[in-house]
Order: sequence, then structure tokens, then C-alpha cells
Amino acid sequence: MESVDILIKNANELVTLQGKNTPRTKHEMGQLSIMPHGSIAINDGTIVAVGNDVRVTAEQVIDASGKTVIPGFVDPHTHVVFAGSREFELDMKLKGHSYMDILQQGGGIFYTVGQTRKASVPQLLKESTRRLDTMLAHGTTTCEAKSGYGLDTKTEVKILQTQNTLNQRHPIDIVSTFLGAHAVPKAMNADEYTNIVIDEMMPAIQKLATFCDVFCEESVFTPKQSQRILEQGKTHGLIPKIHADEIIDTGGAALAAKVGAISADHLLRSSTKGLREMANKGVIGVLLPGTPFSLMMSEYASARTMLDLGVSLALATDLNPNCWIENMQFIVQLACVKMNMTPAEALTAATFNAACALGMQHTVGSLEKGKQADVLVLDCPSHKFLPYRVGVNLVSTVIKKGTVLYGSKQP
Ligand SMILES: [Zn+2]
Repeated sequence: MESVDILIKNANELVTLQGKNTPRTKHEMGQLSIMPHGSIAINDGTIVAVGNDVRVTAEQVIDASGKTVIPGFVDPHTHVVFAGSREFELDMKLKGHSYMDILQQGGGIFYTVGQTRKASVPQLLKESTRRLDTMLAHGTTTCEAKSGYGLDTKTEVKILQTQNTLNQRHPIDIVSTFLGAHAVPKAMNADEYTNIVIDEMMPAIQKLATFCDVFCEESVFTPKQSQRILEQGKTHGLIPKIHADEIIDTGGAALAAKVGAISADHLLRSSTKGLREMANKGVIGVLLPGTPFSLMMSEYASARTMLDLGVSLALATDLNPNCWIENMQFIVQLACVKMNMTPAEALTAATFNAACALGMQHTVGSLEKGKQADVLVLDCPSHKFLPYRVGVNLVSTVIKKGTVLYGSKQP
């Protein structure tokens, strides 16, 4: 009998997400390919067998009776590297102060930019590692991380270098995005700053990032400036992503389709026309329900409309100082409760489609033979408990690349 490192056996639900290896949409998002009483064998960090009749001897056996086994969560939109915190803004928000009021009183993004510019690399590593540890303990095994709290070349490079170091040191796989165009620095206009992003930053960061992102929004970067940045990014080998239509519809969704972005994120106010263009071009919609939640808004992205139009959806935390959420389980809960996604659709969006939003679906996002062994054991009998039993961590075991990082050895 073959000998392997780990055997997880007899899961009440083994949620494999097996299927086609391209982004899923419409009814496909509800198809989890669940194997009742399934087992999964892991060797050398890779899944070597999945099925109901896996006959191997294993160094470690995890009995998943009564439990649910799913792929590790992929969080495809975070701003995990930043310094300081902005909890003081909460009282202001509760009193009804607008984001602009908060900005004028020294809060908002420029507060974080100031803190991040001042922070040493060891400090950034320490603060970000704590967040990554929390993410991992809640089941995130792969994430994206954006720069964007530097807004000057030196600090943008510092953030991206920190992300690359974290990727080497931390168990979570971290994919980097250059978001120099996160905001326009004070005392500069957007055109001047766009030139700096293109002429000065891009040559300096091109080897440090996989993706290029831009905050396309009214009073930030216009679609024209955003297009310039993303097209120029492509010449440096950076794949476009975009923060689109979060506050008003500026045509961000359509621009994502035009420049061939891998994803367009937020999409609260996108037009039907723009969403249709995304669906036609296969641009993934990354929805971030934690953001309106943290901003105390009542409106969430129209996930059902997007699914009807054929947009493939992924989910992410948007972890940042204005939306400090490290837990993808909470995002799945918000997706169901606030955006009417089914538990199955939300789970596809938080795993397989999220991997697609990072171009990583060939290695992670589903439990299939030959894929990286990023596996979670949930302490509940069905994936439907994820949006149902809220406020606790349902992840009892986290396996990353075949190593058990959280969770006890089974008796
Ligand atoms: Zn963001």
C-alpha cells in the first residue's frame, strides 16, 4: 500500500470544487462537487488522491468524521501591509462624520500614509505578520497584497519589498500588486502624480509585483488616467486590476474589460452595460462586502444581477485600516446575508474563483489530485454552517502545502 504524509479521512462533506479550470459563473458557482464521506491523501505538499476509497498508509491520519473539508481560502484583495491603526475614526463615523470630515481632521488614508512612510521595515514586517497569522488561523492560505500607502517611490518600493519578504517567510502565499495610484498625494494634481506613477515608480517596482491596480473613482483617478497607468503597467509585465465604481459609476467596469484586466473590484455602482462587458471579456468581479459593512453603508454590490449577466464572482476581505477584516468566513457570511449569494456560490467565490482572480487556479482553489495541499477542516458537518454559525472560527485544522499549521493531532 502506498505510504503518504497525511490522510484526512471520512469527511462528512469533502468539498472538492472539482470541475473546469476556468472562472465559474451562473449555475457553475453553485456546484461544489461534494463527496460525502470523502478522503484526501497528501504527500510532499501535494494532493495525491481524493475519493471515497483512498487506500494508503499515512504518517498522520486526521479523522474528519462529522466535519467538512474544503480548499484553503484565497483572499484576492488585501492591503495587509500598513502601519498604525485608525480605530479613533469609529466614534467620528458613528456621529455621522463623512469620510471627507475625517480626512480634514487628520484621519483617512493620509494618516496611514504618514504612519507607513515613518515605519521601519522591521516594524512593517512585525505588524503585517500578526495580521497574516490571524488570516491563516481563520483559513486563508493564499492572499494578494497591495502597496499604496506610500504614494512616493521610496515607500512604494519599501512596501512591495516587505510583501516579498513576507511571502518568503510566512506560510501564506502572498502575490503582490502595485497600487501606487491609490490616492493623489496632497499638493499635487492627479495628472502630475499619474506621470510620477508611470515614469518614476513603475521602472522601480516592476520586478516586485505581478499586478498593477488603480483607484478609478471620482476625485481620484479618471478612467483616462487609470487607462494610461494600466496600459503602461502592461509594458512592464504587470497584469491590470482595478478598484472600480465603489462610490459612483465612472465606467470602471467597462475600463476593466477594455484593458483586459484580470479582475475589477468593488463594483457597487457599476452600470449593467459595464458589467456585461466584463462578462463578455471574462473579467472577474471581486466583491468586498466588508467595505460597506465597515463604512456603515446599507448598500452592497448587486451580486445576483452580476451572476445573471454571467460575471464570474470572487470574494475578498479588502483588509485595510478602514476595513480591518482578516477572516474570510465573515466575508462568506456577509456575501450570503447582504448580497443573497448561496453558501455554495459564496464558497466558490472565496476559493476557486478567488484563485482565478490571481491567475493561480492551476495550483490552488480546489481539492484535486496534483494541486497544492492547501486544505481546511471545518468543525461543522456541512459547508452551509459557514454563513449560518457566525462569530466563531469554524476552522479546526489548517494545512498549508502539506504541513499542518493549526489544529491538533487527532487522537
Ligand atoms: Zn482595496
